[in-house]
Amino acid sequence: MQLPKRSTNLFEDSYKHKGMRRALVKVIHAKGITDESVLHAMNTVPRHVFLDNAFLEHAYQDKAFQIGEGQTISQPFTVAFQTQLLQVQPGDKILEIGTGSGYQCCVLLELGAKVYTIEYNWILYQRVQKTLHKLGKTAHTFHGDGSKGLPKHAPYDAIIVTAGAPTVPLALIEQLRPGGRLVIPVGDRKSQNMLLIHKQADGSFMKETFNNFSFVPLLGDHGWQNS
Ligand code: SAM
Repeated sequence: MQLPKRSTNLFEDSYKHKGMRRALVKVIHAKGITDESVLHAMNTVPRHVFLDNAFLEHAYQDKAFQIGEGQTISQPFTVAFQTQLLQVQPGDKILEIGTGSGYQCCVLLELGAKVYTIEYNWILYQRVQKTLHKLGKTAHTFHGDGSKGLPKHAPYDAIIVTAGAPTVPLALIEQLRPGGRLVIPVGDRKSQNMLLIHKQADGSFMKETFNNFSFVPLLGDHGWQNS
């Protein structure tokens, strides 16, 4: 008789990981993140899977960390802040610009969103396919210049940009449905303000501005030049 095949975990999520994650969520809550669904998603997604094994101790600290190719996984507080601004509802169609490690994408998936995510860097784009597979997650992943958005699949309920832009690319506002939200850091190469832009039913938009953040630059046609 053939025994049923044992399912194999493709990643480890131990009590230690879970404990460190709970502690991290307490930190971001104390820093002002109040949306319970966002806190729950961040308590669920195993951030250590998005970093090299050697960096486990860094995975649950509230800081950005290098992921290779000169890029970073964003600071957990920043991920939570941007996600909270997006006001994700289950079933929302969301475009993420700057897939990076795939962590933000998985937080959005955990909230029940359908995620379209685009990455400029070929190596990171390829790597994220493996990470999503490891986690058993499905997103629509693309390689290319997200500063132009992804018009083929528009309109979106929300767009999140996870790299710092010099200005707001108008193409992104055009690709939002009426009532949609765009969250984008805009400023110089070193520091940016987070903008929340609501597209109104008549096509006009309202803007709110928050604090100072520091992202790697958005490259491409509507971003910074490659240098
Ligand atoms: N959201 C990511 C995560 O959860 O790991 C963090 C993103 S990292 C701060 C910024 C990413 O934006 C980098 O991976 C970078 O290659 C990417 N990027 C920069 N310019 C881009 C563009 N024009 N289109 C798409 N991705 C871009």
